[in-house]
Amino acid sequence: MQRNEDIRGRRGGLVNSSLTTPVAPMGMDIAFHYACPFCQKVIRVSSPLKPVVISCPQCHKQFPIVPVDDALIKFMQVITAEGRAAACQEFV
Ligand SMILES: [Zn+2]
Repeated sequence: MQRNEDIRGRRGGLVNSSLTTPVAPMGMDIAFHYACPFCQKVIRVSSPLKPVVISCPQCHKQFPIVPVDDALIKFMQVITAEGRAAACQEFV
């Protein structure tokens, strides 16, 4: 156990591991960016797998978006082990 040991964080600062042990990612999703056709606000949508209508948070108008391919999302999740493989090895 590494309780109460000091470790160095990303910026080199000392971190008390008993209080702030870094937690590794255990899952992931991929956000896609869509520009609102009315006001050009860029809206992040988490892996839209179906053709849905979204509402712009800025101008409040609605518009349909093109979905993303489920196979590509699954591929990205597999090659990154659901995001776990993306964890900076310096911290795990
Ligand atoms: Zn808008």
